[in-house]
Amino acid sequence: MAAPRAALGPAPRGPPGAPHVTGRESGTSASAVAMAARSRGREAEPAAIWGAAGAQRGAVGADWERRPPQHQVSVPQRPRSPLQPEQLQDPASFPFCRTWRMMRPYGKALCAAGSLAALLAFFWTDTFQPGSLSGARVLLTGASAGIGEQMAYHYAAFGAEIVLTARREAVLQKVMEKCLTLGAKKVFYIPADMSSPSEPDKVVHFAVQKLGGLDYVVLNHIGVSPFQMWSGDVEHTRWLMQVNFFSYVALATAALPALEKSGGSVVVVSSLTGKVPTPFTTSYSATKFALDGFFSSLRHELTMQNSNVSITLCILGLIDTDTALEKTRGKVHISPSPAPEAALAIIRGGAARLHEVFYPRWLWHVHGLWVLLPSPRVLQSFYNYSGP
Ligand code: NDP
Repeated sequence: MAAPRAALGPAPRGPPGAPHVTGRESGTSASAVAMAARSRGREAEPAAIWGAAGAQRGAVGADWERRPPQHQVSVPQRPRSPLQPEQLQDPASFPFCRTWRMMRPYGKALCAAGSLAALLAFFWTDTFQPGSLSGARVLLTGASAGIGEQMAYHYAAFGAEIVLTARREAVLQKVMEKCLTLGAKKVFYIPADMSSPSEPDKVVHFAVQKLGGLDYVVLNHIGVSPFQMWSGDVEHTRWLMQVNFFSYVALATAALPALEKSGGSVVVVSSLTGKVPTPFTTSYSATKFALDGFFSSLRHELTMQNSNVSITLCILGLIDTDTALEKTRGKVHISPSPAPEAALAIIRGGAARLHEVFYPRWLWHVHGLWVLLPSPRVLQSFYNYSGP
C-alpha cells in the first residue's frame, strides 16, 4: 500500500547498486527530454518523460522509487498520418495548427501579412474609367514602336489628345495618322533623341504649347542595349543611363509644373529587371533600378507636400515587341506576353493613379517570392548560357 508522501521521509538513494546521481542532475535529464519532445512539436507528457528517462538507466535520479514500474512505462506513439477520427474533431491537431503554434510571433506576422496581400491581389480590381481619358492631354515617349506605339493607339481610341515622340520622324508620322483614324481628338509628334540632354525640355515645352497643358506624361523610351554577358563597356552604360534614366528625370521635372496645375500623372515604364537583378542585363537593369529609386522617392516627397501629382511605376515581364524578341531569342525560357495588353495595363494603372502596376499580374507574386526567398540558381535556370 502506498504510504502518504509526508510519511516517506527523506528520499532513499535508489536501489542497491544504482549509481548515485543528485536530484539536480536528474531534473536536468528530465527537462532535456522534455525539451527534445517539445522541439519535435509535441508537449512533453509526464509519461513520455518518465519512459525516456527510464530508458537512461545510468542516469537514475533521486526520484527513482517514484517512477512507475518498468512494465507500465510506455512512450505513447502518436499517430501522425493519416489523422485519427478523434483528431479530426480537434482542429488543434491538424499539422497546420501545430506548425502555427510553434511559429515565432514575427513568423506569424509575416505569414498573416503574406496571406492578406495574396487575397487583396486576388480580389483587387482597379478603378479605371475609360471615359476619364477622353480629351486627356498625353505626352508619350518611345511612341514609334513596340509598347509605346500600342499605347498611342489605345489613348487614341479613348479619345485623348496626344503628343508622340521618338527619333524616327517617318515612323512617328505613320503612327500619328493611325491614331487619328482610331479617334484621337488631336495628335502631334516631335522627333527627339533622348541621348541629348537638351531634348527633354524641348519636348515638354512643345507638348504644353500644343495641348495647352498636360494630364499624363508617359515615359517609355529606351536606348538600344545588348542582351549578353557584361562586356566591360562602361561608355555604353553611361550613354544608356542618359537615355533610360536622366532623360526620364529631366522630362518629369520639366513637366511637373503643368502636371501640378492639372492634378496629372507621371507614368514610368520599367521592368522586372528593375526590381530583381537578372543575367545579361547589367546596364539596362541598372537604369531600371535607378528609375525605381528616383520615382519612388519623388512619390514620397510629392505626398508629403500634399501635391496632387501621382506617379505610377509599371513593372513589365517579357513582352513580344520586335526588339525584345530579337534580343532574347534562344537565350531565355520565358514566354512573352502581348504588347497591346501590356500597353493597356500601363494606361489603366496610370489612369487609376496606382503606385505600381505589374504586368503580367503574376509578376507581383514572382517579385514577392524573390523578396522573401531569393534563389539565384532558380532564376538563372530560365537563362541559356553555353559558355564564352
Ligand atoms: P522598343 O525597342 O520596341 O521601342 C523603343 C522606343 O524607344 C521606340 O519608339 C524607339 O523609337 C524609342 N527610342 C529608342 N532610342 C531612343 C532615343 N535615343 N531617344 C528617343 N527615343 C528612343 O521597346 P519596347 O516597346 O520593347 O519597350 C518599351 C518599354 O517597356 C521600355 O521602357 C522597356 O524597358 C519596357 N519593357 C519592355 C519589355 C519587353 O520585353 N519588351 C520588358 C520589360 C520592360 P526610335 O527608334 O524611333 O527612336
